[in-house]
Amino acid sequence: MKWLSFLLFPAADMDIHVQITREKIPAFGPRSTPGGQTGALTEFHGIVRDEENGEAIAALEYEAYEPMAQAQMRQIIQELEPACPCLAVSIIHRLGIIPVGETAIAVRIFSRHRGEGLALAARFMDRLKQDVPIWKVRSIPKTSAVSVAPTAPVASVPGILEIIELVRSQCAPLPTERVPLHLASGRFLREEIRAPEDEPHFDRSSVDGYAIRLDDPALEFTLIDEIRAGEWKPRLLAKGETVRIATGGSLPAEHLKVVMKEDVEVTGGRVRVLRSDSERHIRFRGENARAGDVLVRPGPLRPGTLSLLASVGCTNPLVSRLPRVLHIATGDEIVPPEATPGPAQIRDSDSILVRAFFHAFGIEPRQLRLGEDPTAARDALRAQAGSTDILLISGGASVGEHDFTRQLLVEAGYGIRVSKTRVRPGKPAIFGVTPDGRVAFGLPGNPLAHYICLNLFVRAALDALIGLPPRDILEQADLAEPLLEVENDRETLWPACTCTLSGRRAVRPLRWNNSGDLTCLALANALIFIPPRTKELPAGAQVLFASTEIAQ
Ligand code: AMP
Ligand code: MG
Repeated sequence: MKWLSFLLFPAADMDIHVQITREKIPAFGPRSTPGGQTGALTEFHGIVRDEENGEAIAALEYEAYEPMAQAQMRQIIQELEPACPCLAVSIIHRLGIIPVGETAIAVRIFSRHRGEGLALAARFMDRLKQDVPIWKVRSIPKTSAVSVAPTAPVASVPGILEIIELVRSQCAPLPTERVPLHLASGRFLREEIRAPEDEPHFDRSSVDGYAIRLDDPALEFTLIDEIRAGEWKPRLLAKGETVRIATGGSLPAEHLKVVMKEDVEVTGGRVRVLRSDSERHIRFRGENARAGDVLVRPGPLRPGTLSLLASVGCTNPLVSRLPRVLHIATGDEIVPPEATPGPAQIRDSDSILVRAFFHAFGIEPRQLRLGEDPTAARDALRAQAGSTDILLISGGASVGEHDFTRQLLVEAGYGIRVSKTRVRPGKPAIFGVTPDGRVAFGLPGNPLAHYICLNLFVRAALDALIGLPPRDILEQADLAEPLLEVENDRETLWPACTCTLSGRRAVRPLRWNNSGDLTCLALANALIFIPPRTKELPAGAQVLFASTEIAQ
């Protein structure tokens, strides 16, 4: 997965090598230095101690989310580089069961002088504990019969982050179009918006009050005029003169201040100042932004951004064209939700999920329910393929007798890049892409698996096509309740809802039985990521989760 870290972080000056292994790390490696340079070689080995919390142990077991852990270790080094500039860093972290006395992590740093090398090693180790998703799964007591043989490496079938990275790499931002402001909410802005003039573009009173000269010490004034909001009445004031001015009104001249209405007494045409403060109560020309300043950069258009665009007259922003989506639900057992299912039939719950998901992005998918009819599906694809940026086929993604999604996609010109995943639920998911960059997903029909693949993989395609920059989809939270007996060889995504516990963000796991169990979906807004072979997670454990909220 080295390529992933290179993609995420451009090469630094320092030569950085990060590796995750399940093999034994040798005690000392060869002593050669990069390019034969001379200086300091700092080597740190974290060696498994023979006791943990006062108990004698035989081994520790570590797990990690590998691509993320690898990327994060590299990022930490890059962040520390300015403070501790070194020439080369090599980090090897071991996962799986590590017997006492063997190395769990080896850090080897080559620097011109010892100070930077030692500092970098110490600071990296502090950050590693804090920021890198590497778990101590369990400690194995000395008396335990558990074998300390190395655990099997994870299969080459891709996991969540690998699939998301792959999907993103295949989706270039769609072409742009201009839309009127009232239709632009939620769209993705693709241009920079600059202030066309100073903002505000004239000095405005920030209160209802009386404008007087700054250099006028008088306490009594003659009222000579009134300026309401929207009126343009430039004029000079003499000492002893005042003009009544409304909030937002344009100041008649420079070098004035406004006395608040509440601080004066008005009798006929005379204005007496009762209290005075040092505030001028003026919003000065250009104090919010200067002409030419960048006000908005490319990004999602939220209500606040739209009001800013309106204020500068940007009424036709340039946005990404919305992806055109075609969704086909397959399966002879599926009937529309409004129908009463026969004894062996079920209602189609996947189609409305797809519809609602895309609606949240302002996209109206075209939807078909075609039963188990590959010919009908083939015809539909032929008719609509050219006008489809994202094709989704629900059901039939597995290897059953009648599962035709894979074949269908191949015939329609999609190169299959993923044909099954290491994700639970969500194993039989397919991802394909045409040479001209149109993407297709074969989604498992089981509603919970469907929900997960839609929220993770289809979402990744959608984000990339719209133009959103890559984001960390896994966030950290405390586990609100324990998760027992969760061990699995695959990466599990456990439906959950977010909450706050003692002021900290937490996730509460929901009950689910199998990939067809959508009873938890009424509450779910998160998916807890459980790394392969995790046995249990106690309440309060730090976990990673993916949000399924659609907040752009
Ligand atoms: P499949 O992916 O076609 O093997 O289907 C797996 C399971 O998901 C089967 O139990 C199907 O009945 C169910 N399923 C397939 N499509 C849908 C759908 N649109 N809505 C609800 N369940 C579905
Ligand atoms: Mg089916």
